[in-house]
Amino acid sequence: MAEFRDSAHNLRIGILGGTFDPIHYAHLATVEFIRGKYNLDKVIFIPSGNPPHKFWNITDKKDRYEMVVLATVKNENFVVSDMEIEKVGKTYTIDTLRELKKTYPTCELFFITGADAICDIEAWKDVAENFKLATFIAATRPGISLLRAQDYIEKLENKYNAKIINVYVPSLDISSTYIRDQLNLGKSVRYLIPENVEAYIKEKGLYNFGVE
Ligand code: ATP
Ligand code: MG
Repeated sequence: MAEFRDSAHNLRIGILGGTFDPIHYAHLATVEFIRGKYNLDKVIFIPSGNPPHKFWNITDKKDRYEMVVLATVKNENFVVSDMEIEKVGKTYTIDTLRELKKTYPTCELFFITGADAICDIEAWKDVAENFKLATFIAATRPGISLLRAQDYIEKLENKYNAKIINVYVPSLDISSTYIRDQLNLGKSVRYLIPENVEAYIKEKGLYNFGVE
């Protein structure tokens, strides 16, 4: 990450924030598709520290970070940042974007979300400023109506003078919630998450809540 930071000038940088509890193939495939379509030079994955909107028993941030590192290690265009997990207290996207803008003043920032997350964005802290700091790219997600997302995105663009690209991605109906449920039931998650992430989960005994 430090190596990337020092050499990053005039780049188009994608950002994917998430809880990644755990990271799965829909995260990876969505980002790879968007990276190619919008000629992004790099994508920074940013696992959240203590997200304000998540209520389940979230896995330790070090483990979530480690799983993102394992999942992205073979893609030279992906980097992982620990900037949110190293923070004490709640983490907000706006603080992350402000910091990234300072660190990469010559770069253009593209904040990638799924359709569910963009439809939730007015609950975010300082929503208007988020839109000033980055172009948003909202990817289709199974279960979220494309038309509803499109309508909402238009409303956001008008209200906040925001730049939001609504993009159809070849969709995968995978969520971390589903992965956690499958693992908790002792069922297979093969082909839904990278093998090395699955091995890490086994080794650490994660997602074994002992609930029927
Ligand atoms: P959870 O079920 O725990 O909420 P999740 O699968 O939604 O997990 P997150 O870490 O919450 O994963 O998501 C990070 C980002 O990735 C969000 O912007 C989310 O919309 C996006 N994303 C996650 N899964 C998909 C998917 N299947 N298709 C498109 N975008 C996705
Ligand atoms: Mg989610």
